[in-house]
Amino acid sequence: MSHTKLPDNLDSLWLDCHLATMSGPERYGAIKDGALAVKDGRIVWVGPESYLPAGSIERAKETHHLGGAWVTPGLIDCHTHLVYAGSRACEFEMRLMGATYEEIARAGGGIVSTVKAVRAASPDQLYAESAPRLKAMQREGVTTLEIKSGYGLDTANEIKMLKIARRLGIDFPVTVYPTFLGAHALPPEFQGRPDAYVDLLVEEMLPAVASQKLALAVDAFCERIGFSFGQTERILAAAEAHGLKIKLHAEQLSDQKGAQLAARFKALSADHLEYLSQEGVEALAAAGTVAVLLPGAFYFLGETRKPPVEALREAGVPLALATDCNPGSSPTTSPLLMMNMACVLFGLTPAESLAGFTINAARALGLHDRIGILQQGKMADLAVWDINEPAELAYRMGGNPCRLLVKEGAALNI
Ligand SMILES: [Zn+2]
Repeated sequence: MSHTKLPDNLDSLWLDCHLATMSGPERYGAIKDGALAVKDGRIVWVGPESYLPAGSIERAKETHHLGGAWVTPGLIDCHTHLVYAGSRACEFEMRLMGATYEEIARAGGGIVSTVKAVRAASPDQLYAESAPRLKAMQREGVTTLEIKSGYGLDTANEIKMLKIARRLGIDFPVTVYPTFLGAHALPPEFQGRPDAYVDLLVEEMLPAVASQKLALAVDAFCERIGFSFGQTERILAAAEAHGLKIKLHAEQLSDQKGAQLAARFKALSADHLEYLSQEGVEALAAAGTVAVLLPGAFYFLGETRKPPVEALREAGVPLALATDCNPGSSPTTSPLLMMNMACVLFGLTPAESLAGFTINAARALGLHDRIGILQQGKMADLAVWDINEPAELAYRMGGNPCRLLVKEGAALNI
């Protein structure tokens, strides 16, 4: 709650609402019958409406009466592969009709099919296929999202993907956090020669991406079917040398000690974590690395091994959630459905699930000094919801109660 004076004039004042500030001791940081004031894109006052200094309404250019709606920080999707071409619906159908992995691969399925589609797509095509997914996320309250490359798998096509991510962030009122994921899979032309691909990645791809400032972070898929511990270590060391932040797909299908590796590099986040060990939990806690849980992929792949939520809680590791939006293992653009799945499948509380898409997602991107909570000085990125209590966000399966999105103080038509 703010006790500071208001500026002489305000850009907007938001009244007659309840606030889930995600800050402070109350669950959700809730303020019933709250008010929020915005100036120059930032929150300048937040607290109970009854504490609002006299004359505030007169000082505001715009006043919004929200009729008892709930206001949360704009949602943050901290792990997506939103830029891609094509769809893998046929593969999904084949799998359910009994086709084996090999038959699907022979029919041109799997990640290689997305790589082919992305390589073949012109920048405009790739943009046109990705933009509707971004719009769908905005309609569900997203004001910031991370977008990874990783379907180009050569220098030119990885750069093409990252440029599309950047263009989306310019064209849409949303903050895009770009991550280079050249180590997503082994491209077909390097089959059987993974170290040669890592050479190319470290010596050519990463320097090109860094010099053009196309990514803020580097990620890798540390897994038996991805890159080994040693190969991942080389990639992360190169990322660090270029001054880029680090994120890691770790312990999704087996324990590769990726979390310990991520922690050693003070990674922003380690993501998936179904096979995370107790040592891994402790390493993340000591490094201040966020655990990003991805219930969509767990659900879609029919996995049964759950991430060690209780151990992560006990160790005080912040838990974030994300859609993992991608065509192969999590074809979703719905943060709300992910919140529901995180509660039902992983045992998160509704408050933890909302923190997972706000304050802790901001931490997973290193942006928690700017976004993710409703507090004086933070960006006025807000989502306004037609709900009676915040738990409704995680409770519903489908449907979308988002009434309004506000980006840096501007109300958007979504
Ligand atoms: Zn992913």
